[in-house]
Amino acid sequence: MQFGELAGFYERLEGISSRLAMIDVLTELFKAASADEIAHVIYITQGVLAPPFEGIEFGMAEKMVEEAIALSTGREKEAVEREYRKTGDMGIAACNLKATTKLKRISERKYSINEVYEMMRKIASTSGEGSKETKIKLLANMIAAAEPVEAKYIVKYPLDELRMGVGDATMLEALSVMAAGHRKLKGALERAYNLCSDMGMVADALKRGGEAGVENFRITLFKPIRPALAERLPTAEAILEKMGGECSVEQKYDGFRCQVHKKGRRVEVYSRRLERTTEMYPDLVKAAVEEIDADSAIIDGEALAYNESTGQFLPFQETIQRKRKHGVEAKALELPLRLFAFDLMYLDGKSYMDRPYGERRSEIERLFRSTATIVPSNRILATKPKQLEGYFESAIENGLEGIVAKDLNAPYVAGARKFSWIKMKRSYKGEMEDTVDLVIIGYYRGRGQRTEFKFGGLLCATYNEKTDKFETLSRIGTGFSEAQMMELHEKLKKIEAPNRPARVDALVEPDFWVYPKYVVTVRADEITKSPMHTCGREAQADGTEVGYALRFPRLEGEEAIRKDKGPEEATTTKEIVEMFHQQKHVSMLGGDA
Ligand code: AMP
Repeated sequence: MQFGELAGFYERLEGISSRLAMIDVLTELFKAASADEIAHVIYITQGVLAPPFEGIEFGMAEKMVEEAIALSTGREKEAVEREYRKTGDMGIAACNLKATTKLKRISERKYSINEVYEMMRKIASTSGEGSKETKIKLLANMIAAAEPVEAKYIVKYPLDELRMGVGDATMLEALSVMAAGHRKLKGALERAYNLCSDMGMVADALKRGGEAGVENFRITLFKPIRPALAERLPTAEAILEKMGGECSVEQKYDGFRCQVHKKGRRVEVYSRRLERTTEMYPDLVKAAVEEIDADSAIIDGEALAYNESTGQFLPFQETIQRKRKHGVEAKALELPLRLFAFDLMYLDGKSYMDRPYGERRSEIERLFRSTATIVPSNRILATKPKQLEGYFESAIENGLEGIVAKDLNAPYVAGARKFSWIKMKRSYKGEMEDTVDLVIIGYYRGRGQRTEFKFGGLLCATYNEKTDKFETLSRIGTGFSEAQMMELHEKLKKIEAPNRPARVDALVEPDFWVYPKYVVTVRADEITKSPMHTCGREAQADGTEVGYALRFPRLEGEEAIRKDKGPEEATTTKEIVEMFHQQKHVSMLGGDA
């Protein structure tokens, strides 16, 4: 097919406002394309060179395109700019300038769709010194040989303005009509698309293999599967009812979604948006090679930063620092990630997508050789709302976002938000604005590789004026500098108590108790209710007792210990209760985050 013919289809598509009419034009276009062209037609229509996980970009700025138009139409750059300003559209400017150019065509040669596509790929892959000029020349050559209307689309494509407004669903429907004359193939096409996230590949399989080609479509390693998504329900009762009385309940980690593909020593990582993010994670790549006990596998999980020495999770604001192009290795050492694997789609040549979740999960539990970097997500089996709620509270206490409940009998539902996964989150728009001053009443030993500091965090309390007691509010495991860890350890060692000091009221037990003496300033995201702490602890209507806790607590400031405050001057329990209620108000207005 000539590129001019494609431009003709695009002219028609531009004038269309109904979806059905759009499907008709697309069907006609897809019929006209050969098996060798269909994938390219799809990509061009989507306005891309390849699916997102291939990460191919044109690398052409507006100014470069202007220069190519000037070169190919014999105009000054200023004339191109004027036309662009007048029309507000570079494609139309190119079309107009081509229509009025006095330059003769160098040849009468017409470009085919595949030739244009290949040249566009060449433009994208040209890099390094002198590449700017080469790119401009390549584009100018194409414009020079083009009819005015072709020039319009040749210019729009590298500028990322060639989006014909055709969504995935419309594309799949048109492919179905093309092949079968009706829409009934759409389900099978959708399934194939969910398995590879590559519409070009699906169209290719359909053109070459017909219906059977699509039905036999299989997972391809290094083509990401469209990720499963979670529905939302507000209560434990509603979740259990929907799940038929039993489900798996997992911690909900707030980090980066990672779909890891492994074959031998090759590993690639894909994001939730299906971009290839492998370079961001040298630590995960290494771990996938060493720790996944299989020759080939695809696993789904969430990666987040954690503090090795305290074993606590870090807030998303910290994890996000791993999103970078430079200094990746150094940051990986500073902020190691842990990957919590929560699903398995493929293992040693076999698809696991259609097996029930219970079975996939059992495989995950035996899949990793160590518990260093890749570990199964934490989970429980729940049959009662109380179990689910308790687990939810402890997830929040650990600084996590909430829970995700999973239907034990469900397949992996690629590319869809279905009730096989249901999330329950704490709304936390009501961010805590003030810091609080807390009394240190215990501390923890360092764990893992950072034991040289012998320090793994603090147990902190508020002061209750009424009872003259110190009530625990939070364990703090992050935000310490090395100097602070040394200072704290030095000082706390000297005030260790053999047992829980008399004025301390606590349910949790630190590695070492200390006498209430030192005060630290702490910042957190939110005050939450918690069954683990004694601060503000009160009986609830259902007979259980609940206190308060901090979500994502971290030390504030350079100086660890406040020199100006004694333990009785710390934030009081009453103040925490008040802060909680104020925050609750904002949070309810704000809704779920
Ligand atoms: P949301 O982004 O709020 O719709 O929640 C769904 C997201 O939670 C998924 O895309 C994952 O990135 C993330 N997530 C964290 N932990 C889990 C888990 N255990 N199971 C499933 N998804 C999880």
